[in-house]
Amino acid sequence: MSHTITSYSAKELMAMEDRYGAHNYHPLPVVLSKGKGVYVWDVNGKKYYDFLSAYSAVNQGHGHPEIVKALQDQAERLALTSRAFFNDRLGVYEKYITEYFGYDKVLPMNTGAEGVETAIKLVRKWGYEKRGIKPYHANIIVAEGNFHGRTTTIISFSTDPEAKGGFGPYTPGFTVIPYNNIEALEKALNENPDTVAFLVEPIQGEAGVNVPDDGYLKKAKALCEKHNCLLIADEIQTGIARTGKLLASYYDDVRPDVLILGKALSGGVYPISAVLADDDIMLVIKPGQHGSTFGGNPIAASVAIAALEVVRKEKLADRAFEMGQLFRKELQQSIGNHPLVKQIRGKGLLNAMVINDGPESETAWNICLKLADKGLLAKPTHGNIIRFAPPLVITEEQIKDSVSIISEAIKEYAG
Ligand SMILES: *Cc1c(COP(=O)(O)O)cnc(C)c1O
Repeated sequence: MSHTITSYSAKELMAMEDRYGAHNYHPLPVVLSKGKGVYVWDVNGKKYYDFLSAYSAVNQGHGHPEIVKALQDQAERLALTSRAFFNDRLGVYEKYITEYFGYDKVLPMNTGAEGVETAIKLVRKWGYEKRGIKPYHANIIVAEGNFHGRTTTIISFSTDPEAKGGFGPYTPGFTVIPYNNIEALEKALNENPDTVAFLVEPIQGEAGVNVPDDGYLKKAKALCEKHNCLLIADEIQTGIARTGKLLASYYDDVRPDVLILGKALSGGVYPISAVLADDDIMLVIKPGQHGSTFGGNPIAASVAIAALEVVRKEKLADRAFEMGQLFRKELQQSIGNHPLVKQIRGKGLLNAMVINDGPESETAWNICLKLADKGLLAKPTHGNIIRFAPPLVITEEQIKDSVSIISEAIKEYAG
């Protein structure tokens, strides 16, 4: 039996995943084999707009030549050394990314969840060493509806029963408050003086593109300063130009004390995450206290520089801002008042359409099947919400074309 990419039908490939793979995902029935820019193709050669962008990991577009070249060149030269030795790419990358985002230091990891875990360890240790908090009393405030990854500690403070249920015992040390509620944050900070950090997404992506009120993050930052507590921004999904600024935090003129990046930091070709902070915070972690075999490897270092260069050179933040405005405006005009559409919301190219049906209904899923039929891939998040997040390299013409596809799908679905 051959293992070349053309030897199986879509049906056979889906059956193989079902038979041999764990059932921890429920994909749309589309089997992809190629991607370029804003498009992906399935095994039958059918072309689709990619309106998920691998959960915003592919902001720079599929197969960006400069990012792929960085990956290939570095893979041929030197791929992995571990951090037991220096390599000739890591320092260059560390200088590049810290100057890019304006922090003293970076700690390189691989996946988003590892970045979040790193930030949690960092602020706890900072609390003990710099604030003199009694061991082990450090508390971290988080928001309802959060999504920060899938590790045991991270799901310990999830409020999604699907993500959390059945996986205890849970890691203590977290207080959950409602999102977009400054009074709740103030109350929680007053109630627990051992609070070392507030961990928050500037826009909650997985929860359904929940955009907080203007000024929410700014007020949160001010409260954190008042209580000598750190603001950790999880910009794994919102960062790297996705929301129309380099970081979503910039809408509120906020510079997080600890910044977590992932996903599009690699242009979608390699798992790369990063935690950025200043010396006062970052240097509490000493040799032997944290690390990762692959974190900061030469491929990751080279790819991340290329991915960030593309964002700057192609002005992807401005582009996401403009294309996002166009997308929401056109979609609103075309189907904003349709009975199936409850709301269209978002910032930049992180958008969502709330379907006018219960979260348990199949409506959004069925609309996504119809969209796939018409050549546009998107996926429901939390039942009745469809996220629309194309690669940021999308053109005006492609936005307009996508809006017609979505509008037609809604109208046809309604019958
Ligand atoms: C995707 C995501 C993560 C987790 O990243 P992984 O690479 O899947 O571990 C964490 N936080 C946010 C906001 C995310 O969107």
